[in-house]
Amino acid sequence: MSHEGIRMISREESELVAKTEQPLPAAAITPAKVKIAITEGTGVTITWKDGRESHWTFPYLRDACPCATCHEEREQTGRALGEPKPKTTQLLQLYTPPAKPLSAEAIGRYAIKFKWADGHESGIYSWDFLRRLDEGALPVKVAR
Ligand SMILES: [Zn+2]
Repeated sequence: MSHEGIRMISREESELVAKTEQPLPAAAITPAKVKIAITEGTGVTITWKDGRESHWTFPYLRDACPCATCHEEREQTGRALGEPKPKTTQLLQLYTPPAKPLSAEAIGRYAIKFKWADGHESGIYSWDFLRRLDEGALPVKVAR
């Protein structure tokens, strides 16, 4: 067997892998501990089965809402996941309090959902989404 042949195969394989989204190992998307600090207002901390600890503030998670409406809004304005909306340039600046959930609930065994103080509650934050959000492994920025 020639070395040339081996190199060819491995290059083709690596190209194939790059084209498909890599599934994350089960231990990376299975939380061992989930802390949602609503009263303290500090955000969400997840300790994953593989030992990594992820933390997000509530405003970041609100700005990364994965629902179709927020996704579309981000695409149109070119905002990244978790990136705040730009401050208005109007003379009269209305104060908007930082995003905070009124409650949070588990969706089956795969996700959590927040009821935000602004009334929004259609985003389903799957463990997979959150882990990729933490690692920056999601396609966040849309070209304008
Ligand atoms: Zn949303």
